[in-house]
Amino acid sequence: MRQLSGIAASPGLAIARAYRLQQATYVPVRAAVSDPQAEAGRFRQAVEQAGRELEAIRQQTEERLGSQKAEIFEAHLLLLEDPDLIDATLEKIEQEGVNAEFALHEVASAFIEALSAMDNELLRERAADLRDVSGRVMSALRGEPYSSVAHIADESIVIAADLTPSDTAQLDLTKVRGFVTEVGSRTSHSAIMARSMGIPAIVGAGSGVKEIPAGATVVVDAVEGRIIVDPDDGELAVYRERKEQYDRRQAALGELKRQPTVSRDGKRVELAANIGSVDDVQKAIDNGAEAIGLFRTEFLYMGRSAFPTEEEQFSVYKYVLEKMEGKPVVIRTLDIGGDKELSYWKLPEESNPFLGLRAVRLSLHREDLFRTQLRALLRASRYGNLKIMFPMIAVLEELQAAKRILREEKEKLLREGEPVSEKLEVGIMIEVPAAALAADLLAPEVDFFSIGTNDLIQYTMAADRMNETVSYLYQPCHPSILRLVQTVIRAARERGIWVGMCGEMAGDETAIPLLLGMGLHEFSMSAGSILPARALIRELDQAEWAGRVQETLAMSSQNEIKEYVQRAIRRNSE
Ligand code: PEP
Ligand code: MG
Repeated sequence: MRQLSGIAASPGLAIARAYRLQQATYVPVRAAVSDPQAEAGRFRQAVEQAGRELEAIRQQTEERLGSQKAEIFEAHLLLLEDPDLIDATLEKIEQEGVNAEFALHEVASAFIEALSAMDNELLRERAADLRDVSGRVMSALRGEPYSSVAHIADESIVIAADLTPSDTAQLDLTKVRGFVTEVGSRTSHSAIMARSMGIPAIVGAGSGVKEIPAGATVVVDAVEGRIIVDPDDGELAVYRERKEQYDRRQAALGELKRQPTVSRDGKRVELAANIGSVDDVQKAIDNGAEAIGLFRTEFLYMGRSAFPTEEEQFSVYKYVLEKMEGKPVVIRTLDIGGDKELSYWKLPEESNPFLGLRAVRLSLHREDLFRTQLRALLRASRYGNLKIMFPMIAVLEELQAAKRILREEKEKLLREGEPVSEKLEVGIMIEVPAAALAADLLAPEVDFFSIGTNDLIQYTMAADRMNETVSYLYQPCHPSILRLVQTVIRAARERGIWVGMCGEMAGDETAIPLLLGMGLHEFSMSAGSILPARALIRELDQAEWAGRVQETLAMSSQNEIKEYVQRAIRRNSE
């Protein structure tokens, strides 16, 4: 038995025999051709053939996985028209009188090398796309099929150096149980496709993957990120059992997708998703989200060279609102600064950026940018159930200033004849201890609170959320944090406004019973945590946990509280 580890890119467990995907690294030799024009014609035909194949894969992907996943192949088809690849190859054939294979290899390799060296994940992925597309043209030139994945005959785990998006799209899911690759990241296209196809996958498992013999029995534990090659009988039995348990649990969770989130004693709460891009919306829906509880709009501003325009922002917000079909969508205004930077906007050097000019402080400092975002949001409001949220509010004056600017932009739009939703709500994140302690002073000014525990914990504990050496202080269930959270929930309830939580703590299985007991209305978390949270809440009795809250708040450490909660959950489920 041998073990390897890698990145669990698509969760699940699979056990089957290894199928080694042959990815011949063909390096053509330079040969002079007597008729460069005819050679150029041969290249054009190969490009056309690759285009036909890609179009078929695009259609097949659209049918199997939806139009969004099929977009990858639209991008590939565009590469077949890219002058830097196609025209440059033709030029090389015609001017140097060389064979098409050699010309293509030279041009594509230089292009791929340049992209791979970039310090930008998106561009590196583009290198993978280019490798895929040029490889396909090369196979067409040589009159060989491009990939053999579509013809796997037995139940298998596909083992490869890397899987191209087109390989992944063509996997025969009646045979392929999972895959393992040497390279790749959680965000590579093949990883994304594996998640939407629901097959277990481990990527980036390193050069040890080369040593997995074809035909060996392989366990892919894409929950823990482990690969076991040739397990003994004992190991095999353990993993078969684990796989069965995992599959049973997934099937049970799948049943909960369209179920409401209600506690055992009938208390209804809302489970929402945190998103950072339009792509995340589908994932939220697929995981049974009842709302978007936090759209981190800063990601719209990142990975580009200038601020997004009002129009660009408007179309993104409109898309998300429409996609959620009237379900609540909480969109947070720009939360930049601290650890989040924009390459095109150099913020002043600060010795304590987390305590400096960030989030709403920055929006109030650069009103022009803030107004652009607010206009885009107000205009989008009529396409769904929008709730605007200001991050990092510390004092009442900041909230009043932000609301004044919002009001001014709304009035301007109305004067311009642009409709704005009557139902639009305005709320704030509670992530600064000052705001938590004085939540009763802020509540009359807003429609809702959303507790941002990621920052609230770091500010309360004075422990940088990114600093490993003080991570022992990062304790969501410490009595100090729970007391602050309770203060906020009480202030909201007394004022009759709703209160949610969008920090990671909202998806923490130990915190959930206590938050439910305190009367939190909405829990917003990463999409993958929603169904396990729903399963848990349906097992809990809200009134019982309300009774336990005071007892836990009197305890002296996170450990004591965690043990108490876990014991109570176990007792409940027995
Ligand atoms: C938080 O601080 O809890 C939060 C949700 O915001 P972010 O993680 O984006 O700072
Ligand atoms: Mg925050």
